[in-house]
Amino acid sequence: MKDLKNKTVIITGGSRGIGKACCLAFAKAGANIIFTFNKSQKEADELAAQIKNLGVECLSIQADVREYNQCRTIIEKAIERFKEIDVLINNAGITKDKSLFMMLPEEWHDVINTNLNGTFNMTKATIITFLKQKKGCIINMSSVSGIVGLPGQSNYSASKAGIIGFSKALAKEVAGQNVRVNVVCPGFIETDMVGSIREDIKKEVLKSIPQKRLGKAEEVADLCVFLASDKASYITGETIKIDGGLAI
Ligand code: NDP
Repeated sequence: MKDLKNKTVIITGGSRGIGKACCLAFAKAGANIIFTFNKSQKEADELAAQIKNLGVECLSIQADVREYNQCRTIIEKAIERFKEIDVLINNAGITKDKSLFMMLPEEWHDVINTNLNGTFNMTKATIITFLKQKKGCIINMSSVSGIVGLPGQSNYSASKAGIIGFSKALAKEVAGQNVRVNVVCPGFIETDMVGSIREDIKKEVLKSIPQKRLGKAEEVADLCVFLASDKASYITGETIKIDGGLAI
């Protein structure tokens, strides 16, 4: 399916995990890809080559989503190269799990700054372009943790719940200008992020997932491709779980 042929898609945190799967899924759908990474230069270079092999254009940019000026630079570079932007996927995110009584203020702030403020920084930097174009699609990566709350993740759950509220407000603000804003809430997906969870905890997690398996990054990417496509043209302000039934 080349549904997104010649569209321009920006994906933050594209170097690994769900972001990487999104880069490849959108490239296979014919879109040109701009992806960002923070530290993983080697992974980013390998991915950029892989994307170009799929016959689309690719720009990879090192940038920290915590820094508004760096986010503005990403958008300037994207416009310079591709003239228009069709889709923004705010995917970059981190965890710093700890019970609140052990959590350091910097662990709270780093998670909020990356996940929630990073989403604000990128969206704020992009929105004027979408409003001028009178078209655009934003997909914000939240989490089931932002809906149900998970122990040890008060910082992460707060950041991800914040993303849901932010997206609903923005969806109402910009719907009249043909800009859609949706949220994807993955459950437990096989990436480095989940790889860092202790094995015994992972076993417990599996018991609580009705489908009895972790999700794949590619499954989340396919949902993002659908949300960005014309097939989802009447969907905005929606929060979609992709979690094997975890949060039923
Ligand atoms: P990974 O840890 O595998 O990858 C995270 C990505 O974010 C990397 O590309 C990383 O860049 C980038 N990143 C981290 N900090 C910054 C920063 N300050 N500026 C720019 N980029 C940054 O994570 P996942 O693929 O698992 O997660 C992707 C998104 O999905 C996150 O928002 C996460 O919260 C969400 N999610 C994941 C779930 C899961 O089970 N995996 C469940 C629910 C939600 P670099 O490689 O350079 O470090």
